[in-house]
Amino acid sequence: MNNDRQKKHRSWVDYVLVSSIFTLTVLIGIFIFTNGDSKFQSSISAKTKGEIVNDTQKLLSETKSEFEDIQIVTETSEDPTMPYTLYYPKTKFEQVNKEISQYITKSKENYFNAVRLYKNAHPDKDVVGKYQLFLDIHEHNNSYYSIVFKNKLTVDQANYDISYQTYIFNNHSGELVSTYQLFNQKTENLEVFSKYVKNQLTKNLGKNVYTDKLDSSTAPYWKNYKRLAIINDRLVVYYNSGEIADPSAGTPTVIVPMSYLNPILADSFRTSAISKETIIPVKPTGTGKRVALTFDDGPHEKVTRQILKTLNKYDAKATFFMVGRRVPNNTKLVKDIYNSGHEIGNHTWNHPKLTSLTSKQVMSQLDSTDDAIYKAIGQYPTVFRPPYGAKNKRVTDLIDVPVVMWTIDTLDWKHRNANKLLPMVKNNLHNNAIILMHDIHQSTADGLDSVLAYLQKEGYECVTVSEILASQK
Ligand code: ZN
Repeated sequence: MNNDRQKKHRSWVDYVLVSSIFTLTVLIGIFIFTNGDSKFQSSISAKTKGEIVNDTQKLLSETKSEFEDIQIVTETSEDPTMPYTLYYPKTKFEQVNKEISQYITKSKENYFNAVRLYKNAHPDKDVVGKYQLFLDIHEHNNSYYSIVFKNKLTVDQANYDISYQTYIFNNHSGELVSTYQLFNQKTENLEVFSKYVKNQLTKNLGKNVYTDKLDSSTAPYWKNYKRLAIINDRLVVYYNSGEIADPSAGTPTVIVPMSYLNPILADSFRTSAISKETIIPVKPTGTGKRVALTFDDGPHEKVTRQILKTLNKYDAKATFFMVGRRVPNNTKLVKDIYNSGHEIGNHTWNHPKLTSLTSKQVMSQLDSTDDAIYKAIGQYPTVFRPPYGAKNKRVTDLIDVPVVMWTIDTLDWKHRNANKLLPMVKNNLHNNAIILMHDIHQSTADGLDSVLAYLQKEGYECVTVSEILASQK
């Protein structure tokens, strides 16, 4: 017990020592770099000369990465006191390689100096260091690579320091991307982001957090947000061990879906995935009046296209309840609908009256349509509407998304008259109305423009059906 505690205590003291050495080394490095004081530099090397072998016997090898245009360099040294293994990328861009090479050189120097200084503090010990640099590469939007370096530095076994370094660059031009560019060159975007990061860290780190350091490290300055990577459509922010929290908390990260960040990102970083919630809450409309337009029985190559165009003209959002069997032949159209911010609902595979089917048949109608839509957009439909509005408890119990009916029936399927669409809406209009139409009739597409013009004039915002449902909870 007592032994354990002593060991723990010792580790802690050494941790602080190594950390300070590390910090000191960096400071010395900066001092030398900025001052060019060669006397100071030579006094350091003279002091350590002959004690520890330097970086002379390194081995280099290259292997392929999973990306065609990136090679992985493995650099190792089996120096008895300062061995290391480093992995780093070699790209086709000189500027990127140069930046990385400078970083590698600096990191190795930090390591050597940390070992030397530790050795000086413990002259009677056989001090052995260990340094590993791990590499991760990720691609985003077919346009950007994120490089993540994880440094693991050990001196005298028990003491280690884990830190991160990242680079994002354009894989067509080789241009390195700064956080300033990522956030569309707007300080207000960084302010929104930094508030979010700080909240997340406070929540995740609990008692381990160093409040003062967290405040200063997350303040909205560009220099505070340099360690970022885009991994699987998520933005990851890295912190080093001991940087903002007790080292026992490891290396904290904040991970945010890119779709959540869409409003504050530069165009080329936005994802096509639509997030219902984003880092900037949707601003309330002036009037607060809203309706949901819904289109059933499509998609139809010509009619739905025209409707999509008209909706976009008025910046109106709608919900499309699709018949599954029509989806596989119109995947591009379905994608375009989804990417324009509209909602996609399930309207069965081939439009049967569900109350006349067995439960097994109902499930098959639902699942095949879900799968077809998933194949088209990578997301499952978020709402369901039964054909003919025919439902009972047995049927609705089988459905795990909201079952949505309507409050205004335009009867567009019956009159098939473009001029009758607006009067049907106008005479029944109310706040939070759910309006039923069909995107397989040319007359509906032709009459839609006048409906949207009217709604806009009356101060109604057209939203998805889920947004109406959410407001009625
Ligand atoms: Zn229908």
